Amino acid sequence: MKHRVTLIPGDGIGPEVAEATRRVLEATGVQFQWDTAVIGQNAMKKYGTPLPDEALESIKRNKVAIKGPVTTPIGSGFRSVNVALRQKLDLYVCLRPYKTYPGVDTPFKNVDIVIVRENTEDLYAGVEFDKDDAMTMRLFDLVLEATGKEVRKDSAVSLKLISETASRRIVKFAFDYARKNGRKRVTASHKANILKFSDGLFLRTFREVAKEYPEIESVDMVLDATCMQLVRKSEQFDVLVLPNFYGDLLSDLCAGLVGGLGVAPGANIGDDIAVFEPTHGSAPKYTGQNKVNPIATMLSGVMMLHYLGEQNAADRMENAIAGVIAGGKSLTYDMKPNKPVGTSQVADAIIDRLE
Ligand code: NAD
Repeated sequence: MKHRVTLIPGDGIGPEVAEATRRVLEATGVQFQWDTAVIGQNAMKKYGTPLPDEALESIKRNKVAIKGPVTTPIGSGFRSVNVALRQKLDLYVCLRPYKTYPGVDTPFKNVDIVIVRENTEDLYAGVEFDKDDAMTMRLFDLVLEATGKEVRKDSAVSLKLISETASRRIVKFAFDYARKNGRKRVTASHKANILKFSDGLFLRTFREVAKEYPEIESVDMVLDATCMQLVRKSEQFDVLVLPNFYGDLLSDLCAGLVGGLGVAPGANIGDDIAVFEPTHGSAPKYTGQNKVNPIATMLSGVMMLHYLGEQNAADRMENAIAGVIAGGKSLTYDMKPNKPVGTSQVADAIIDRLE
């Protein structure tokens, strides 16, 4: 059976890592029908919007997409297309498995952590009030009336929104994932000690949901302690469930543990749609140089094969990637500073190893 998949090259280094991944996916023998869609800066030029309806419709139709990273201008310009995509398709889970492959240069051995990050709300809900805006002043009046607290008048505000609905479904996803994948422990990280209402609600919901999964150990841990423990004793973490903002930060921390962004895959998942993409961004300074590491996108492709029910091809592709990493020869500059190869040569080496 041919799988219809939306292929989003993205911008910056996106098209190079996406193409390398497409080649390896095809070399597994699984049949794909690619539906290429443009979002981000290239879509802005072509359609006048960074997230055209054509792209959204393609993903809704095919239900599965693989995506290169997309650039977001900092501080001004359009809001993040990645955030908009997750919100519009209600891809409420960001799933990121981080494990150390033998041969990767990192002091952290045997890391095997799956981050389950809430993807739709929290500080990234996009509800913000600018400094000096009339609405911001009205908000401050309300704050004064409700709490008696005087806010500095030259403040800007970003709302941290944590709902019971989103907390419940992300925590349930984390426990279901643990159950399906033979994982033993789910840890929730939070700052409920300070943020009593928002993170307090997340924590309460976690404890309630945990009762439905008595066979899985549940642990809750304050965020700062989690950061320290991840570095000191990473082996105690199995599945780690987090609200959006903390999940964003700890994803990169875990990517660092396992050897960097070059080997950190991910997926954004909703009830019936999934978009697979690496943790890293579009690294614009390396655009078009055939230089960056495609392995994070390829490992996202492995996750996609699992999602599509192609377990055998997924295992073969992961083994071929692991073999090339362990071989230590055909790797990009981030994994092999001395005489690295280019993006497309990594793909060639992995295709050669596919069994
Ligand atoms: P980045 O991940 O693009 O790059 C940071 C640095 O990490 C790079 O300069 C490079 O040294 C290294 N790096 C990243 N990917 C690599 C790879 N595959 N191989 C080797 N080295 C790699 O982060 P940034 O510079 O903060 O962001 C650049 C742009 O990407 C921004 O516009 C940001 O908004 C966007 N971004 C997009 C996504 C996404 O599309 N999902 C995710 C994160 C950032």
